This record gives sequence, C-alpha cells and structure tokens, in this order.
Amino acid sequence: MRKNIVAGNWKMNKTLQEGLAIVDALKTALAGKTINCDVILGTPFIHLACATDAIGDSKIGIAAQNCADKASGAYTGEISAAMVASTGAKYVILGHSERRAYYGETDATLKEKVVLALANGLTPIFCIGEVLEEREANKQEAVVKAQIENALFDLSAADFSKLVLAYEPVWAIGTGKTATSAQAQEIHAFIRKTLADKYGKEVADNTSILYGGSCNASNAKELFSNPDVDGGLIGGASLEVDKFMPIIEAF
Ligand code: PGA
Repeated sequence: MRKNIVAGNWKMNKTLQEGLAIVDALKTALAGKTINCDVILGTPFIHLACATDAIGDSKIGIAAQNCADKASGAYTGEISAAMVASTGAKYVILGHSERRAYYGETDATLKEKVVLALANGLTPIFCIGEVLEEREANKQEAVVKAQIENALFDLSAADFSKLVLAYEPVWAIGTGKTATSAQAQEIHAFIRKTLADKYGKEVADNTSILYGGSCNASNAKELFSNPDVDGGLIGGASLEVDKFMPIIEAF
C-alpha cells in the first residue's frame, strides 16, 4: 500500500551552514520517535552531498528541487539528474509551480526531466496544480488532468509506479490560504481516478499523492485524515524544525 510522506521544500532558502543545522536538529527531534510517514527534505543543490552525509542512519530522505532536462553537456549552470543521484539524494521535486511560472518549465520539458530522473534511480515528486483563475472558473480538474497526461502518461506502468505526486493549488502556496480539507480530498480523489483510468486501480492505489500549499501544524492533521491525501509538500513550515515536526507527527 502507498506510503505517507511529509516532504519539506526549502526553496531558495538557507546557507549551507544553516541548512546543515536544520538537518541536525531534525535528526535529533526524530531520534527515538515512532514516525508514521517517510520524511524528506528538499534542499538547494549545494546542500545535497553534505545533507545526505549528515542524515547518517536517520530515516530522512534528501531531495533536489529540480534537475536539468538534458543528460549532460554544454548547459552552463545546469545540474543533471545523474549529478543529483551522485550526491546520494534519492528524490527530486519536479514541476513545482514556481519552476513552471518563473523559469518557463512546460509539460514537454518536465516529461524529459522525469525520464532522466527515473533513469538515474531518483524518485520524482511531481507537482501539479491550478492557478486561482482556473479554480474560480472550476477548471481545476481539467488543468491537473492535462498536466498529468502531458508529462507522465507516456511512462510505462512500472515507471509510473515509482513516482510521488504532489497536488499544490498555486493560490495556496505561500499565501496562508489552504485548500479546505474537502477541496483537497475532492481533487486528490479525482487525481487517483485519473491514474486508475490509465494504469489501473492497483497502480493508482499505490501512488502517494501529497497536498501542498500553506500546510502547517494547525491544518495538517485534518488534511492528512482524508483517505486520498497521503501527506504534504511543505514550504515555509519546513524551514524551522519546531514548525515541521508537528506536521510529521500529524500522522
Ligand atoms: P508553502 O509552500 O507551504 O510555503 O505554501 C508549499 C510549496 O510550494 O511546496
């Protein structure tokens, strides 16, 4: 059965030293506790190698927040999936709405990134979600369906089974406006049905679908109690262990 996951997304925050201090503090906070979810930290690229070293034998997994859509070569400033994997990171967040909006990432480039991530043994945490105008026009289902179909539905069922999805309504990211628990459940169930229609019930039932967007200590429990919400992708509240731990413990 699918895993519950709480993943932090630090975005462009924290120096190397500040980041390693968070990893250490989280390790200490988790030590000796029974935790009912996988815990992942999505760090900037420069933290990856040190962070995978620092997690030691703790259960924390490390994620990159992006990787290139090319395997290698003359692409100044880019970081390939193979490079990410060589740091010991096990996951890569792909298709975050900030990457789509500010860096022009399209379904087509994301499709390439997913293939390269999988080829290098990384688990993509693939983000989807609608903007406010789309939600107001009640188009959220069509939008997330198209994002999934265009970027992911050429994968075999075996490859698709390696993915984690994160539904993040863009209007809820960093805004303090969370989707209601009912809104989250409704669209997560729709996403799972979309997966079932393409890959069958077993693959759909085994896919973890995380919610992201102003998820915090006070709303995590209610959001995660929904049958189709399998955890969270946490931005702001993952930057301090005191705020992140209660979300992890919401399971
Ligand atoms: P937020 O960000 O928790 O700060 O809203 C979530 C995300 O962008 O992954």
